[in-house]
Amino acid sequence: MERQFNAEIESLKLGAGETFHGEGILAVTKALLQSGVSYVGGYQGAPVSHLLDVMVQARDYMNELGVHVEACTNEASAAAMLGASINYPARGAVTWKSIVGTNVASDALTYLSSAGVQGGALVVVGEDYGEGASVAQERTHAVAMKSSLWMLDPRPNLATIANLVERGFELSEASNTPVIMDLRIRTCHVHGSFVAGANRAPAVSARNLLADPAAFNYDHLAHPPATFRQEKLKMGVRLPAARKYIREHKLNELFAGTETGVGIVCQGGLHNNLLRALKLLGLADDFGDCRIPILALNVVYPLVPEEITEFCSGKVAVLVVEEGQPEFIEQDIATLLRRAAEEPGLEHLARTQLRGKDVLIMAGEYTAEVIVHGLMRFLAAHAPHLDISAGTRWHETVDAARTRAAELLGAPLPPRPPNFCVGCPERPVFAAIKLVERDIGKRHISADIGCHSFATFAPFSLGNSILGYGMSLASAAGVAPMLAGRSLAIMGDGGFWHNGFLSGVASNQLNGGDAVLLIMKNGYTSATGTQELVSSPQDESAELTQEKSAVRADRTIENTLRGAGVKWLRNVYTYRVADMAKTLREAFTTDEPGLKVIVAEGECQLERQRRIRPILARLLGSGARVVRTRFGVDDDTCSGDHSCIRLSGCPSLTLHASADPLKVDPVAHVNHSCVGCGLCGEVAHAAILCPSFYRAEIMQNPNAWDRVIARLRSGIIGWLQPA
Ligand code: SF4
Ligand code: SF4
Repeated sequence: MERQFNAEIESLKLGAGETFHGEGILAVTKALLQSGVSYVGGYQGAPVSHLLDVMVQARDYMNELGVHVEACTNEASAAAMLGASINYPARGAVTWKSIVGTNVASDALTYLSSAGVQGGALVVVGEDYGEGASVAQERTHAVAMKSSLWMLDPRPNLATIANLVERGFELSEASNTPVIMDLRIRTCHVHGSFVAGANRAPAVSARNLLADPAAFNYDHLAHPPATFRQEKLKMGVRLPAARKYIREHKLNELFAGTETGVGIVCQGGLHNNLLRALKLLGLADDFGDCRIPILALNVVYPLVPEEITEFCSGKVAVLVVEEGQPEFIEQDIATLLRRAAEEPGLEHLARTQLRGKDVLIMAGEYTAEVIVHGLMRFLAAHAPHLDISAGTRWHETVDAARTRAAELLGAPLPPRPPNFCVGCPERPVFAAIKLVERDIGKRHISADIGCHSFATFAPFSLGNSILGYGMSLASAAGVAPMLAGRSLAIMGDGGFWHNGFLSGVASNQLNGGDAVLLIMKNGYTSATGTQELVSSPQDESAELTQEKSAVRADRTIENTLRGAGVKWLRNVYTYRVADMAKTLREAFTTDEPGLKVIVAEGECQLERQRRIRPILARLLGSGARVVRTRFGVDDDTCSGDHSCIRLSGCPSLTLHASADPLKVDPVAHVNHSCVGCGLCGEVAHAAILCPSFYRAEIMQNPNAWDRVIARLRSGIIGWLQPA
């Protein structure tokens, strides 16, 4: 049971003239329906997960419209779906997180862009770049350029975003080219409103079937010799058609200003930050009115030469505000201006100075603070008559606040990396690995993408490399033969189905590898919002206790592994730390050749709590007896050495001052967020720590027997205690 999107689904049904309120990414979903999209697919990942999550949950409404929705097993299968638009006049959209997802999808994207499309094809990617990002920092722009895919980067404004979805399909059809809509984190999460249009049932769909398949046309195949012609079409026909459409439909926005001697060209997605920076300098107001002319590029690739030369004409200098490296847009503009200046009548363009990464940072997020800095350098050089002293004062205020905070702390602010949720089933596995390493020494660990990558942070600090989603076992292949001790690869069930089985397990089997693979089977792709997998549990009312895992689907991972010839296969419940440690030790030391796989089974705690909360509420409402488990630490017994905290890392396990005046150090303490997973007790037992943990059962709606026992217990305790 995933997060419910009932309100969001209702907003997808808004009709013409009604006002849509919400998040940028959901405006995209609504606009897809207004565009008559026939099919939607994708692979979840921040910041675009909700686009698909909402559509998957709105399946009934999608069926009503005839929109086919597919939750793909990875980005490559999502990209390949767009193949439907090569031969048919059907609009399709797919979505994923970039740059990582685009890398996975790029094989299909390359062939798709070569063949070209008849129906509009839109790739909605979440550009996971900047301080809130969770992936390696690269630009999707490079992929767009190398494959000749047009790229939109909408201004973070819901009306602009929704309009660009619809125009994106038209651009795709006008130029027979797939279009990438690049959504930055801030664009996805910006809130606002726009006037909705009516949803359009697609012309070709599951409700409106085509009688015949497309006729055979070799030119639609991305296969030689057709590919040679396709490359010429890209530059000779599709590119000019795209530029014509972009210019005629004014996809890029010009904001005129009074200071016509200078100008700014920015990526559309940076427009809000740019305005904020200009406001801090006293050059713009809260409503977006700005003294400096701005060309906001809602289409960052391709640029339209005439738009650039017209904007730069008569200006002393133009600043390009372009986030990320290298400076593709700046280079593109420099080339366009240089070429244009050779044309008769346009020689004056040679006098327009182009500034960009020389006054702004080359790499990293363009926050308002970064842009203020760059603008001050640019304006001081090219518009010295403007008073920008407000920027200097603002910087001084910010710096003073930082200095004061450091003084008060007496030390730099400690980093606060993300951590496993309270009661996460994966935490015990890493506690077990630490215990095993204590006995047999350190092992090379290939980590992977997923919640389990939190183990690379303290208190575990485990993992030597991360090379992509589901790539841990593959990335151990070169390391394993060089090391005396067996290496360990860790991946989640999400990673296993995404890529890990083929890239890791199959390759290992082919080459006779001897590694240890640990698969975290928590039942979902938890890190991306707990979307379902092939092997997700289907029984929503499964186990309410922690004694057994509720992940009891048809064990597809195990069957798949057996089918691939894996002989050494163990399934261990994650919270049994001692069992897990024993199994790991065996895997590292057994003489049995071949891949050794441990399936670490334990349902994602976040999802479990979401699943059991309504069940518990129902039970309580009906007066049924409900027992919850909590753990605690006995202050008197706790020795205060904090080994349990170093082996667990659970946020519920914290410190508090001891009531015993002889204990100087604070003792361990379990706070109210404990979900009673039992790891504390397991760790204390497996690591032979002090016996200070106790387990308590919190009972609601006790029955008569419970009341009798409670009275008896309190009587005996009262009798034993001195008056
Ligand atoms: S989302 Fe689930 S798997 Fe991920 S850290 Fe939280 S409990 Fe663990
Ligand atoms: S039992 Fe221990 S590890 Fe589990 S949630 Fe409670 S404090 Fe955290």
